[in-house]
Amino acid sequence: MVCAVYKVIFFIQTDKNKIMEHKVINPSTDEVIARIHLSAPNEIESIIARARNAFDSGVWSNLSFDKRKNYILKIYQCILDKAGELARLETLNTGKPIKESTFMDVPSSAKTFEYFANNFEKYLTPETMGISQDTAQVEARLLRQPLGVAVLIVPWNYPLIIASWKMAQALAAGNCVVLKPSSRTPLTALELGKIAHEAGIPAGVVNVVVGKGDEVGRVLCSDKRVDMISFTGSNDVGKKIMEYASGNVKKMVMELGGKSASIILDDANAEAAVNGSLCSVFLNQGQMCTAMSRILVQDKIYDTFVKSFVEKTKQLKLGIGADFEAQIGPLISLEQRKKVLSFIQQAKHEGAKLAYGGKIPDDANLQKGYFLEPTVILDVKPSMSVFRDEVFGPVACILKFSSIDEAIRLANDSDFALAACIWSSDKHKAERLAEKLNAGTVWINTYGMFFNQLPYGGFKQSGFGKELGKEGFLEYTRLKNVITDQSSDGKPLVNYWYGV
Ligand code: NAD
Repeated sequence: MVCAVYKVIFFIQTDKNKIMEHKVINPSTDEVIARIHLSAPNEIESIIARARNAFDSGVWSNLSFDKRKNYILKIYQCILDKAGELARLETLNTGKPIKESTFMDVPSSAKTFEYFANNFEKYLTPETMGISQDTAQVEARLLRQPLGVAVLIVPWNYPLIIASWKMAQALAAGNCVVLKPSSRTPLTALELGKIAHEAGIPAGVVNVVVGKGDEVGRVLCSDKRVDMISFTGSNDVGKKIMEYASGNVKKMVMELGGKSASIILDDANAEAAVNGSLCSVFLNQGQMCTAMSRILVQDKIYDTFVKSFVEKTKQLKLGIGADFEAQIGPLISLEQRKKVLSFIQQAKHEGAKLAYGGKIPDDANLQKGYFLEPTVILDVKPSMSVFRDEVFGPVACILKFSSIDEAIRLANDSDFALAACIWSSDKHKAERLAEKLNAGTVWINTYGMFFNQLPYGGFKQSGFGKELGKEGFLEYTRLKNVITDQSSDGKPLVNYWYGV
């Protein structure tokens, strides 16, 4: 067992009398892996002041682009240098199989810093426009400037990746940040704070705080000195944050929940559709905002798909996070497992058929962790809660459909609109279908490919604003319009109106 003690929030002197110790748990074994200091609301106030002062001093926003780029590239390099340790920590803290942390979470986090370090300058280059209208001739310069202090609030399912997305974009745009990870999974965010420090980022520019969401969240999100909140998490908390922030106006990006649908058409490559669908619903134990938990299968391919999907689900290997062979780890907590089990119970009660899983595995080695068998549910009705609500666990609901119009109706029948998948060998048919789906991202014949170049974010209850790509990056900036008159005469508001 590894037990680290983090007592000091990075770059902040804490009041030792007020230290609240918080236990961080390994979901694979239910053991304490770290004890950390939780910040109290009054400490948050001084962290905000520190970030505000750093921003106002220009120590970061006024740096030359070359210097800013070099600092961010140092963060990228430090993540690569510590890749093994970061993967180990991420797995220890979230329970996700080490193979996922090693090959997905850590390298993709590093790449985001690299990408924005190398590309922010072109996104920030001012646009110039000449306008002639009636007698007016002006030149307008559109300037992209940093917002100021950005509060970055991150969930427990992808702690390092989501912290890196937000931090890389916010820093590259010239902001100072206060990063708040979930208190369940703070370890890699705290490491990221250390990495920023080791990279030489000036004091006050990067601040990491860990505290109880309700307590510190309110302080962070209602403070006038904060200019932006970039939040990824649940709808319930997102709504609270909008309420806190309504007291004084600030920019917000909300990346909230999902209930995504995958559509398997009759002409799909069945093997690819099955393998891709397994990934799309069981990766990270289904604790993904983009989990394709509603799998809609066209009638002619339905029997083949279901038979193979259930057979392959049975073969998935459960194991503790550190097991390199494991394909399914534990859920994040006991409460999360209870919540997922209650969805399964309810679905059975409402008449759905359990084709596989649905219970705690028998394996004696897995009894301490929060494991749950990957679960396949058939005969689901669109009115059932397992079909409508975000389960956030390894539960696949499979439904049969006949026509494409029916698939569109079923897929779009959701309060959420985050992502969707289409499996078909007819590219044009799939593209036409993609246009009709209510989802911010549609994957065709693949799943879960995120690119730093491409904006990501949902509609409806899945939130607003984008992460990544030019559009996501620009969320961390404000657009200023500087208009300069170019004409020698004929300026009504200057020369004629009051110019007697
Ligand atoms: P959560 O909303 O419970 O917590 C998210 C973060 O908000 C945590 O850091 C938490 O401490 C903090 N928080 C809690 N109460 C707060 C408050 N009152 N004020 C401010 N902050 C507060 O979400 P979670 O359980 O950590 O993560 C799962 C949810 O995140 C799911 O709904 C999932 O769909 C969503 N998610 C969305 C995306 C996306 O890109 N759309 C990505 C990952 C996760």
